[in-house]
Amino acid sequence: MNKITRPAEPDFLVEKASKLNKDFANNRVKKPNFAFQWATHKGKKVNILLLPTLRYMTQGHCAFCDGYPFDMSTETIEHFRPKSAYPHLAYHWDNLFLACNICQDAKLEKFNPFLIKPDEPNYKFEDYFQCNFKTGKLEPNCAGSWGNQLRAVITIRLYDLNKQAKCQARLNMADAWEAGKAKGRVLDDFGYRYFIV
Ligand SMILES: [Zn+2]
Repeated sequence: MNKITRPAEPDFLVEKASKLNKDFANNRVKKPNFAFQWATHKGKKVNILLLPTLRYMTQGHCAFCDGYPFDMSTETIEHFRPKSAYPHLAYHWDNLFLACNICQDAKLEKFNPFLIKPDEPNYKFEDYFQCNFKTGKLEPNCAGSWGNQLRAVITIRLYDLNKQAKCQARLNMADAWEAGKAKGRVLDDFGYRYFIV
């Protein structure tokens, strides 16, 4: 999970988010199983309009596992605080991240207040995590505080960041980086950037 700096909220969302959040929250009150569907703005789905800025925010990488490119997964928009429990944040800019469907499918509607949010102002990967370069796993940084280690454990678990396929993909990507560096490719061309530098 790389540190993310969130760009300014897109103008159309600044104008519309409050009404869209209120409408969705009201619909959920009336009908608790009211299904979420992205609203439209000027004939275009809001998620489609948000994708370019969300991609820019993470250089096109999944905000949670840092997977890239999305050739073995699908690009999606993740609600950090889930829509079911936080319907009033469904269109809240700070709550939206680019993610792969594998991370999203692992977390679903789960949430824990200790979950690490990658755009937290003081977040640094190494304060929370360390890499196991033999297994490809992410581990809590054993030199970190007890609280940070707990947050790392919760984050790894909720997004299933040590799924076998992800561990293998990290190892593969590290090999590819070693090979690709010589050809002048840049780090952002590779997934799991925290694992290969
Ligand atoms: Zn992911």
